[in-house]
Amino acid sequence: MYPETFEGFAVESAETWTAPKRHEYKPRPFEDTDIDIKVCACGVCGSDVHTVTGGWGACPYPLVVGHEIVGHVVKVGDACKTGLKVGQRVGVGAQAFACLQCKQCKADNEIYCAHQRDTYGSEFPGGFISQGGYSSHVRVHEYFVFPIPDSLDTKLVAPMLCAGATAFSPLYRNGAAPGKKVGIIGIGGIGHFGILFGKALGAEVWAISRSDAKKADAIKLGADGYIATKEPNWAEKHALSFDIIVNCANSSKGFNLDDYLSLLDVNGRFINVGLPEGDGFQIHPFKMMGNGATFGFSHIASRKEILYMLNLAAEKKIQPMVETIPVGESGCGEALRRCHDNDVKYRFTLTDYDKQFA
Ligand SMILES: [Zn+2]
Ligand SMILES: [Zn+2]
Repeated sequence: MYPETFEGFAVESAETWTAPKRHEYKPRPFEDTDIDIKVCACGVCGSDVHTVTGGWGACPYPLVVGHEIVGHVVKVGDACKTGLKVGQRVGVGAQAFACLQCKQCKADNEIYCAHQRDTYGSEFPGGFISQGGYSSHVRVHEYFVFPIPDSLDTKLVAPMLCAGATAFSPLYRNGAAPGKKVGIIGIGGIGHFGILFGKALGAEVWAISRSDAKKADAIKLGADGYIATKEPNWAEKHALSFDIIVNCANSSKGFNLDDYLSLLDVNGRFINVGLPEGDGFQIHPFKMMGNGATFGFSHIASRKEILYMLNLAAEKKIQPMVETIPVGESGCGEALRRCHDNDVKYRFTLTDYDKQFA
């Protein structure tokens, strides 16, 4: 038990990914730049599913996933400089380490550091594999631990730490603001945050989805318009009208990229945040020449962006749609399975940690 060992619900193999089991494990040695956190909630991310099923490749089983972690500080390393205090409520997202020395790190792009390591499933010195937040505690370098504004509800803020951040960064970096028209493709965990943060940044936001099934929710979240791509001629009707499109869809099946790129105004930007399994996209240069479109990608969000996002969420009283499930062997299994089946509106937060971890 803490501080020597942590406990968590680990997936043991690709075949048994819906049945995580309680495990006790040794965290990596505490360093003077580390923060120990007693977890009180954790969001369930699509990445958790892609990882434990082996869909993204080899997975170091047994693995405790979860990288939308909210908890309270229980230990602060002697060399910590960010001012966190024992007892303070904090969050941790998908990243747990970067060198903080390289050009990228020094420019607040530590998410693109060549030495970056993930909150779970990454190897640390000594052969320790990082373990995520379906657990009693996590040990994280202070740079990747974020104070949470008091007004934000724990169960609502947890999913912001990956899904929210992933939607926020490309909007912010690519200039979502008053006078700009933003399209969000795929209204799921990340996409629904795309609508919320696009609006919070002042842009006109349209939701883009296959059918009308999510129209009511999109409007409720604040969308100004809605495009259903199963309608005939949907792309022609909206051609050359968007400044930024963020693609949050987690499948590339039947995805005709040319149609989506044709929606962009001149020099508009199409930014992908989903990482579909499989072969990826077909790029046709002649089509992209038509509007001088930019096709790009974005990976989570930097510390600076996450701190900004959390304050914006507090200021604008952002209300994501979140379902809760009590943490535990059955709760973690249910959350992973239903997340895999897209059977959630639009994010799960695991709760009731005090009942599992005394
Ligand atoms: Zn670096
Ligand atoms: Zn995630």
